[in-house]
Amino acid sequence: MTAVAIGVSPAGAGSVLALDACFDRAREPYTSVVDSHLHTRPFGGKAIPFEELTGYLHKSGVRYASMYGIGQTLPVDSGCTYYLDCPGVPVTPSMKNDFVNAANYLEERPEDPELALSMTFMDLNHPETIPSGIDLYDKEFPGAFRWAGEVNLVKQALFPNQHEPATSENIKNWAPFMKVLRDRGIPITIHSDLGSDAEPTKYLPLMEETLRRYPQNKIVWAHMGLSKELSTMNPDQHIGIMKRLLDRYPRLTLDLSWRVLEDQYFSKPGVRQKYAAFLDRYPTRAIPGTDFVAAANKDYQVYAEELEVTSRINKALGDEAFRGIALGRNYFRLLGIDRTAPEVCAAR
Ligand SMILES: [Zn+2]
Repeated sequence: MTAVAIGVSPAGAGSVLALDACFDRAREPYTSVVDSHLHTRPFGGKAIPFEELTGYLHKSGVRYASMYGIGQTLPVDSGCTYYLDCPGVPVTPSMKNDFVNAANYLEERPEDPELALSMTFMDLNHPETIPSGIDLYDKEFPGAFRWAGEVNLVKQALFPNQHEPATSENIKNWAPFMKVLRDRGIPITIHSDLGSDAEPTKYLPLMEETLRRYPQNKIVWAHMGLSKELSTMNPDQHIGIMKRLLDRYPRLTLDLSWRVLEDQYFSKPGVRQKYAAFLDRYPTRAIPGTDFVAAANKDYQVYAEELEVTSRINKALGDEAFRGIALGRNYFRLLGIDRTAPEVCAAR
């Protein structure tokens, strides 16, 4: 049995809808049906209008997405649209983009794509401000937020903009809001750079401390700790660290978003196979995403390209990891929603 063709279905793996149809990898796209890491608000300046953006997802076959604000907003009067263009200008988490997201979402309530609103305002260096922020969201938008993040534990790219890594004292003081997330089963995506080319594991202790203190939280590690500042890490060393932490912390999930992973790692000779073998061994432990930032100067082509590039790793995966990652099974489980990813058709 093969996938049932649907007349004018969009491109994308999600076009298999019939319950008894299996997903034929030879005929269907390899692009993920989930975008778990989508910034629907920009750093500053104008955003792509919400309906236009959901149109991008629909057209590209993305049927589920987590709707992130942005963890680093530029001052409203700065005239900057990208923090790297404005060193010295402080960037800080803000509630503004979460409010705009919530208002947009609640006005449209799109069903395809299905969206999960995320709280991005959390300032991990000032955790004492977080519980009252959640209370405010509960009052204004009861039950609307089902995800947290992307929040920054340490992000080297923001150092010129007065961002400092959270300290071990800060991490300890996360306890009250981490309990709220735990009680509600809300995943939190944490951006925590592993290190730099000069010191590849410089910041690993911060993430380890987070996992050690909050082993029962659904923690999603953005970009597996990789970044532009860490472009030359030995893949075996990196994979070794990921395996060790996945084994020790069963609730940890890896986020495969951002084209930097493909450009700097997966696309290098021999490296894709290493990561595919790793993900095949941990088929339930990773989720896909684009890390697209919806600034108004981008268009559908940019989104489609970022989805394609970040989905290339899917082609190298075995069927179980493909179903878990590309077809959404891991995302559904993490979010606690009752959706079923189609089975992959047996190879003929
Ligand atoms: Zn991001």
